[in-house]
Amino acid sequence: MCDVSRIAMSRRGLLRSAGALTGAAMSPMLFSGSASTADTAGDAARYNTRLVLLGTSGGPIWWEDSDRSGISSAIVIGDAKYVVDCGDGAGHSLRKAGLLGQGEGQNDLHDLRGVFLTHLHSDHISDYPALLLHGFVGGGLGRDDRPVQVHGPGRRGTLPEVFPPDRPEPDVVNPGNPWPGTADMTSSLIEAFATDINDRIFDSGAPDIRARVQAHDIVLPEGAGADPNAAPPRLETPVEVYEDDRVKVTATLVDHGQVFPSFGYRFDTEDGSVVFSGDTTVSDNLIDLAANCNLLVHEVVDEAWVRESIEGLPEPQPIKDAYINHMLGAHTTIEQVGGVAEEAGAGTLVLNHFVPGNLPAGRWQQAGKDFSGRLIIGADLMHIGVGRKHD
Ligand SMILES: [Zn+2]
Ligand SMILES: [Zn+2]
Repeated sequence: MCDVSRIAMSRRGLLRSAGALTGAAMSPMLFSGSASTADTAGDAARYNTRLVLLGTSGGPIWWEDSDRSGISSAIVIGDAKYVVDCGDGAGHSLRKAGLLGQGEGQNDLHDLRGVFLTHLHSDHISDYPALLLHGFVGGGLGRDDRPVQVHGPGRRGTLPEVFPPDRPEPDVVNPGNPWPGTADMTSSLIEAFATDINDRIFDSGAPDIRARVQAHDIVLPEGAGADPNAAPPRLETPVEVYEDDRVKVTATLVDHGQVFPSFGYRFDTEDGSVVFSGDTTVSDNLIDLAANCNLLVHEVVDEAWVRESIEGLPEPQPIKDAYINHMLGAHTTIEQVGGVAEEAGAGTLVLNHFVPGNLPAGRWQQAGKDFSGRLIIGADLMHIGVGRKHD
């Protein structure tokens, strides 16, 4: 997520406000007994296709009094695995969720086929380097004949506008390429960690990591990226991203304020469909993408928390109002998200990317007000089955 993180890092008051709103940890056992929801990994393993929530908090913040890791999810289809976003703690959560294989390496990710990054905010990618670097040791990342396919945003191509607009223009970081995309980022990470990688290859017989991971920038339809500083265009049809014998993955542009491009993803399997909103305000493109899906996994922010946090800042009221609008213009509130799921016709709404990451579950339950389907308040390590069960 963008704006709250920037405010939080630059203004101490916000984090103090967050601390005042702490709540009890949420239990993955809260929602059990449904045909589409399993409450333990053992039950969930009976589903051919399942969603596993690896981390459910938003923002590059180690939330006080919260057991939510950074945002990350997995789709498991038989023995094939796919990861959506890699926030802080994703690797540990793969282990805890029982999604690492029992093969030759401790970090067995042979069955990881794809990684899909919604956007390049750090709270969505801070464990991506760890996934690559820990994964390839012991030969566990992908296979020589089936490298892990990483898909995500390409280069933004122009700098974001300065906010608030009257602030002086800051110095640009990495002016030679200030907006690296997914492919740039992956190759730069491999270069940055070459000391470790070469040691593992030369001294320990690790495979060449470059043969185990292939990163791709999602190519936007003609004209769709014309102005990264304007609202994203409506897409008539989703972008085709990835397909194999288990799944077809499509994407659309969502509206995450200045963070362009930002994507939502749809996974269509023979057992049903799962859609991830990524970070976005209410987005017609996302509603189209989520049409009649089985599971809509959607971000959510507590508007009351945003207002309370920003109202505490020592700024003139017009600046505070601008920050509030900026923040809410890039995310979806508790009051809005149920209507999104209703309009899309989603069967089940699964909330994740909670901001703040430490509110009691009761507050999030209010998201069900405008939604006639099933609401699940996501929690780390929750397994949710899709479609048919094995015998
Ligand atoms: Zn985020
Ligand atoms: Zn974001």
